[in-house]
Amino acid sequence: MSSIISIAQKISEYDDAVKLDECLDYIPLAEIFESAAQDQENSARDEGDRVVIALLKWFKSHFKWVNAAPCAHCGNTETVGRGGTSPNEEEKKYGTQVTEIWHCDKCNSDTRFPRYNDLYKLLETKSGRCGEWCHVMTYLLKSLGKDVRYIWNSEDHVWNEVWSDNEKRWIHVDSCEAAFDKPLIYADGWGKKMAYVIAVSNQGCKDVTNRYVRRPDAALPRKLMSEQQLAGLLAQLTTNARAGMDPVELVNQSILDEEEDKELNSFVHAPTATESLQARQSGSAEWTASRGENGA
Ligand SMILES: [Zn+2]
Repeated sequence: MSSIISIAQKISEYDDAVKLDECLDYIPLAEIFESAAQDQENSARDEGDRVVIALLKWFKSHFKWVNAAPCAHCGNTETVGRGGTSPNEEEKKYGTQVTEIWHCDKCNSDTRFPRYNDLYKLLETKSGRCGEWCHVMTYLLKSLGKDVRYIWNSEDHVWNEVWSDNEKRWIHVDSCEAAFDKPLIYADGWGKKMAYVIAVSNQGCKDVTNRYVRRPDAALPRKLMSEQQLAGLLAQLTTNARAGMDPVELVNQSILDEEEDKELNSFVHAPTATESLQARQSGSAEWTASRGENGA
């Protein structure tokens, strides 16, 4: 659970006004709003939600998913992973904690793939895996004035939730898949089993596993800590996050907590939703299958 603590400690970085301004300049706003206005498929949703859908569609075609880093020397895309190494000084400047090495057999050379964590660098490279996608999407959504959660999953995936003013609930958003309000995409679409799904925002931390795991056979055992310890940790992180809130806002938040608890409790072991779900779109077929996320 150290990941949760570390995300919670850094979550306010997504409210950096300068970075959010930069994002607003970066997003093709006219195109996004036009696309939202024309979206017949989602005409039942309100404009705010349609804007998020349009942003996801644009981002999916704009940002690139990287499985194996292509060879920097000859362009060969069939490189072989040689594990991670320490970032060099240049890579460290952009918040890189690990740099992957990809070997090209054709020209017998190595290509470095730094896992950048710096917004500006990522807006430039426009590439990565779910960590980079979710990192940038959190900023982009916030720049549009959305209330956003960073969602951590114990089985190596991250995504977002966005507050819908219209529906008065948190909505699942996965930028890698351009998925909006499809929380069962993992369990039913990818065939992914999960133990923990935790939401982190500047309103605190919440266990939202029930939203994503609604069948016992999609659940993995929760062994990281006792349920009592987890509840205590999330409560403490939430208290920390709300330390500066005024009393009225605190009361509002606790009402929202109760309402979400009711929603989350209603999901337990509910029948499979009828929403149409897809196998994983991000990542190559081979990579997806190696993770057991191809819906098979
Ligand atoms: Zn090569």
